[in-house]
Amino acid sequence: MKSKPLLLTNIGQLLTLRSTATSPRRGTSLSDLAISENAAVLCLGGKIVSVGSTKEALRDPWLKKNRKKVTEIDCCGQVVLPGFVDSHTHPVFAGPRLVDFEKRIAGASYEEIAEAGGGIRSSIDGVRRASKPGLTNRVLAALDDLAKHGTTTVEAKSGYGLSFESETKSLEAILDAAKQWPGTVVPTFLGAHAVPPELRGRSQEYVDIVCQQMMPAVAKRKLARFADVFCDRGAFSADEAEQIFHAADQHGLSLRAHMGQLGETRLEPFLRYNPASLDHMDYVNDADLPTLAMSDTIATFVPGANYFLGLTRYPRARQFIEAGVAVALATDYNPGSSPTLSMPMVMSLACTHMKMSPAEAITAATINGAWALRIADRKGSIEPGKDADLAVFDVRDYREIAYWFGANHCALTILNGVAHSPPTG
Ligand SMILES: [Zn+2]
Repeated sequence: MKSKPLLLTNIGQLLTLRSTATSPRRGTSLSDLAISENAAVLCLGGKIVSVGSTKEALRDPWLKKNRKKVTEIDCCGQVVLPGFVDSHTHPVFAGPRLVDFEKRIAGASYEEIAEAGGGIRSSIDGVRRASKPGLTNRVLAALDDLAKHGTTTVEAKSGYGLSFESETKSLEAILDAAKQWPGTVVPTFLGAHAVPPELRGRSQEYVDIVCQQMMPAVAKRKLARFADVFCDRGAFSADEAEQIFHAADQHGLSLRAHMGQLGETRLEPFLRYNPASLDHMDYVNDADLPTLAMSDTIATFVPGANYFLGLTRYPRARQFIEAGVAVALATDYNPGSSPTLSMPMVMSLACTHMKMSPAEAITAATINGAWALRIADRKGSIEPGKDADLAVFDVRDYREIAYWFGANHCALTILNGVAHSPPTG
């Protein structure tokens, strides 16, 4: 996929999110979108090379000489922002969990769903049976759908294989799909998602397999950049999660974890490992917030899961923000608890249920998502030198992106300089 020189002009609001900061956004800086009006952006070789007013851009001597080589997109007053960085997805699964969906609506508990053969177990069976090309196609379809909603960078986890062979197959499917998609994919090894059914009640045995067999192979073959663990009630204990962190650290994988979705885990022992992100964070001890705020670890909220599971309780974003914690938003795209690929929907939930402002939600979905993947030097803002990742929304005011929930107003996405759908307008 070759990028072509692109010039976007007549941008009504350009949300650059430019900043001289060298660390994640927190506190009042979460609201600083650095908006330019009537702006233009020039992209060459997959990079942003200049950002300014449309008038200035059209006067540029290089552009005057090379105008014919450049594809010009007249944005007609639309809003342009950095492409979303979705820093938490589980795209490697074989199908939706519709029976679980109906059973949950009818009032079944998590345990009842599991006993009926649903829950994570059904996704594991599906992935183990699936061929690698079959999984690759599903991941690629999800990536394309993400791009349609304005996302240009995606973190993608394994975690429904739970055996050496199926976890490797899942990560290979992510890498194969990534090669066919113009955007950027960051793969994460989530072997420690659940204890596989054949080792039920023997979680330490499985943790040993993850640490001693899977982790070294994943690291050696460079199948993932991050290792993740689901540390919660009914998943892995804090002690087991620390073993996962330790092994990942030894093998040079960066760290992230699912934490505080169902119950509280003290964060301090984990923060010592300097994880890039701790995700969910519905249940966090207040005493951990100052320590979290002192770190560069991002607290990533995934309110799509709260919504889909019908929970009334959402993460306490305001307390985190007031304590100075750097926060991000992600879809948690997965078949069990958050089947959505829409970052605007997630931002809408963050605004209405977590009382984040529309500006805070945009920062959390772009530059802080990039920090959560440790790629903020390349992603998450519109500045010369950064990757040409842009989303054009057919609205006049950026606040409309979170306002019109359940509708997709993304008109065009540019991924590493490649336009994803034909320009409109
Ligand atoms: Zn997740």
